[in-house]
Amino acid sequence: MIELNPHYAELKDSYLFYHIAQKTKAYCEAHPGTHLYRMGIGDVSLPLAPAVIEALHAAVDDQAHPATFHGYLPECGAPFFREAAAGHYRSRGIALSDDEVFVSSGASDELGDILDLFSPVSAALIPEPAYPAYVDANVMAGRRIVHLPSCEENGFLPSPDDLPAGEDADLFYLCSPNNPTGAVFSRDQLRAWVDCANRRGAVILFDAAYEAFIEDEDLPRSIFEIDGARTCAIEICSFSKTAGFTGTRCGYTVIPKELERGGQSLHAMWVRNRTTKTNGVSYILQKAGAAVFTDEGQRQIQDNIRVYKENAKTLMRALDSLGLWYTGGKNAPYIWLKCPGGMGSWEFFDLLLEKIQVVGTPGAGFGACGEGYFRFSTFGSPEDTKEAAARMEKLLGKA
Ligand code: PLP
Repeated sequence: MIELNPHYAELKDSYLFYHIAQKTKAYCEAHPGTHLYRMGIGDVSLPLAPAVIEALHAAVDDQAHPATFHGYLPECGAPFFREAAAGHYRSRGIALSDDEVFVSSGASDELGDILDLFSPVSAALIPEPAYPAYVDANVMAGRRIVHLPSCEENGFLPSPDDLPAGEDADLFYLCSPNNPTGAVFSRDQLRAWVDCANRRGAVILFDAAYEAFIEDEDLPRSIFEIDGARTCAIEICSFSKTAGFTGTRCGYTVIPKELERGGQSLHAMWVRNRTTKTNGVSYILQKAGAAVFTDEGQRQIQDNIRVYKENAKTLMRALDSLGLWYTGGKNAPYIWLKCPGGMGSWEFFDLLLEKIQVVGTPGAGFGACGEGYFRFSTFGSPEDTKEAAARMEKLLGKA
């Protein structure tokens, strides 16, 4: 009988979102007609930008005529897409050649697929709390995982100094702005990770899914703003949250040509991988993605991001007035707060659901060090966010 991948048996059930769904369903059944204020969702609520919609329509029309029809495109990305993405980096002062950009169907696909480049005997270093897919993709690949807990004292931004002595993990996951904490690495903090990776021959997988939310000029939006990153980092980007592509699916990954380990080029390996395992991303979606990089596209996605940032301000004002500790919100679409009165994450979840019908995400679901913390997303509607903030102030202000 065929032998299956034994590591699937090691996966933990995705308890977090299942458990939230169960609890909210039970509450709604017991209280029919109740409106829930959903501040937990990580999905966007605003539609695609007009420049993207226009590009999609035009690309569909192209496919209708022999003169403009496109069949297979180069697997690593259409030249127009790679030029638009690399040009976007260059406009921000980051030197990058077009063919260092690879088109993708989104960050989740890449975060799983990219592991093909590394031996299963390498070990993944995952700062926690973390986006759950990092852990699960490595469990499936049979890789050893080193959990690096972060905490309030380091602003949920761990440094290489926090590594246990003798720890030799060599595949570093960094996510900035972070999901779930909303924390953003400073240039110096990121430089410390780049230096550490170069020193020990490690590779950084830098998840930049939320880069467009960074508004402080002095915070890095790309790891390639840091000297030395070209010899140790892969950057994984997505249009999902920055441009509302969660249901449209397109992203891109940057692998510099200088990135080599053991005499092998990771860029060349990824070209080999993509040309074997995919036939690329559709012409229509690459046109939509390229439209995001136009001046008009950039202006329009920022209009949407501004709506989410107003939501963040509404929630942050409420938390400030309640005197609760939090991080994120300003340069990220997530706010990570300390539950009041020493409450546990699930205890606080139950309180908000039962007393004020607000649904957030318990921090404990993102790793053990998330216990006692809670995540609010800012992707909901402004109306619901305002009402949720007002209800929270009323409930907790009198506690
Ligand atoms: N990385 C992080 C940190 C995320 O939060 C998400 C989605 O929530 C993803 C990657 C996946 O994004 P995509 O929709 O591009 O697969």
